[in-house]
Amino acid sequence: MKLKAITPGWSSASAGLVLCATVLGAAASLPAAEREPIQALSRTPVALPADHPFRGTIALDVDARDVAHRIFVVHEKLPVQRAGATTLLYPRWEAASHGPSITVAELAGLDVSANGRSLPWRRDAIEPHAFHLEIPAGTQTMDVRFQVVADANRLSADVVAIAWQHLLLYPAGWYARNVAVVPSVLLPQGLKAFTSLDVSGTDDNWLQFGRVTLERLLDAPVLAGRYATRVPLAENGADAITFDLIATRADDLALPAERAGDLRRMVEQALVVFGTPPFGRYEVLARMSDEGASGGIEHRASAEIDIASSYFRDWAAQLNNRDIVAHEFVHAWNGLYRVPADLWAPTPSVPEGTSLLWMYEGQTEFWARVLAARAGLRSREETLDTLALDAAEVANRPGRAWRPLSDDVNYPSFMLHQSVPWRDWQRRKD
Ligand SMILES: [Zn+2]
Repeated sequence: MKLKAITPGWSSASAGLVLCATVLGAAASLPAAEREPIQALSRTPVALPADHPFRGTIALDVDARDVAHRIFVVHEKLPVQRAGATTLLYPRWEAASHGPSITVAELAGLDVSANGRSLPWRRDAIEPHAFHLEIPAGTQTMDVRFQVVADANRLSADVVAIAWQHLLLYPAGWYARNVAVVPSVLLPQGLKAFTSLDVSGTDDNWLQFGRVTLERLLDAPVLAGRYATRVPLAENGADAITFDLIATRADDLALPAERAGDLRRMVEQALVVFGTPPFGRYEVLARMSDEGASGGIEHRASAEIDIASSYFRDWAAQLNNRDIVAHEFVHAWNGLYRVPADLWAPTPSVPEGTSLLWMYEGQTEFWARVLAARAGLRSREETLDTLALDAAEVANRPGRAWRPLSDDVNYPSFMLHQSVPWRDWQRRKD
């Protein structure tokens, strides 16, 4: 939208412009030559995150049964910390993308009430993920209800992917580690759920999880599927590491003994390299689909892995993707247990610094290659082939001539969800 600057002199000619003249009132007293517009945008302050205690626990209930409309229905009970002005935030930054990849456009039907009375909210004009409210004196708890419009990838009759950072509002003013949450989820009938969260109660298709900090919750997705299997990769008391596989068809679920052996050796090798795990229990949340896109998202005690339905059947074609699980597993130590200083952020609403992203991803990828080779996921020859592929790619990617790696680490702040048609020259995520 283009706005036309209006000079105060026009106001006498048209009643419709009186408002503009009022806004520019300060300028109107100046000599004619200086009557240029000045900005009159008012800002409502949003409390910055602070490291202090949050009283009480947020109850967060997610209903994932409306698969026909692909809508998550959310109900939160928030303990009120004090009466007066307060702000609720919808997350914007995601650990996985290192950028502002969450959009509040997917949130709909927001309704806030207390003691059965509706509380009007006002969206911040500058930060659309912030909702301002006035809490009446004496209010103990706020009821917050809304829906999140998902896509088939996150919500279908056979697969539900719960990414908590898309499914909650939280009060501005506290570090996420200071805010306690008790989450629960209602799933469609017949799905089996996997997560690193501890289940404290279950009834049919309802799962109640134990109390966690908001920080931990944001790093603990739930994956549920109709066709699912669970294969242990290591068992060492509480340090159990499990491969949880979800497929679109039961036939795809068979994990060949050879591949399970590769993954077990990879875990053994990782524990030898890094030592004591930074988790009590680890879940590889692997999901097969016919789209075949491979990728992963790292967490401290789990990994979300996307693989092709033919991943294990057509092992020869997976040369480049065989170290996906190893890569995300290494992140438990490199990137999550040890976090680059400026990458750590107290809430998902403030920016992350990415100056050490080359280390976060680069060192992880290095160890993933080593572990894959040592575990037998790739033979010696195949390992050398992948290195040759990398070398060839680098040699033919001239973007480094104008954009150094120290600038490329900034890609999440301006290249997320953007098309990069001239990849070799624009350079992205090298
Ligand atoms: Zn990574």
